[in-house]
Amino acid sequence: MKTIGLLGGMSWESTASYYRIINEEIKHRLGGLHSGKIVLNSVDFQPIEALQHQGNWEQTAQLLTASARSVESAGADFLLICTNTMHKVAPQVAEGIGIPLLHIADATGRRITQRGMGRVALLGTRFTMEESFYRGRLEEVFGLDVLVPDAEDRETVHRVIYDELCVGRIEKASRERFLAIIDTLSRRGAEAVILGCTEIALLVGQADTPVNLLDTTRIHALSAVDECLREDTGFGIQG
Ligand code: GLU
Repeated sequence: MKTIGLLGGMSWESTASYYRIINEEIKHRLGGLHSGKIVLNSVDFQPIEALQHQGNWEQTAQLLTASARSVESAGADFLLICTNTMHKVAPQVAEGIGIPLLHIADATGRRITQRGMGRVALLGTRFTMEESFYRGRLEEVFGLDVLVPDAEDRETVHRVIYDELCVGRIEKASRERFLAIIDTLSRRGAEAVILGCTEIALLVGQADTPVNLLDTTRIHALSAVDECLREDTGFGIQG
């Protein structure tokens, strides 16, 4: 079994989900007392969030690269950055380490194409919904048509993520708002809605809506399990 490296803490609420999903899945697949071999470096999110909103991505890249290196030197065979948004600096992080990076948008894009879907919608932070580092990758690498909510709904989703979900607040009114946004995206032609922020599944789940949901936390964590249980030694999961 390979050792999974997690760069977490963004927020820790969703890193806890990664830890649980990986261990549950390994137990399910291998049985007995099996559990994941995991190295986790969990950062302090407050300064990172401040840098994001100041637009100082260069410094976030430096902080995450330093944390990623410590994950590598602690013995991880490959790395997951446990947030969609911080994949904005994934190229710099990948360049600064000697182990492969399992990119969350690649794991998600593969799942969507395996399910034969072509038109999907994306919910996440404003950075994820509006910039090209994530959407562009889904469009260019996987040939997907990616819808996003209108400006007002994007603002709502962004605010709920930082003000509520990342601090562990689960509000009924926000759940209803998210479900209405998901419904609108489905009526605009989305075959599924990507929960493109690792905390959104703490608020809405498949049982809440008939619209197909793609939970990036679960997809990313399960891809890590696939990779860590692969027989051969190379890194097999590629975009
Ligand atoms: N965890 C969130 C994501 O998946 C948002 C927090 C962050 O800015 O990293 O995008």
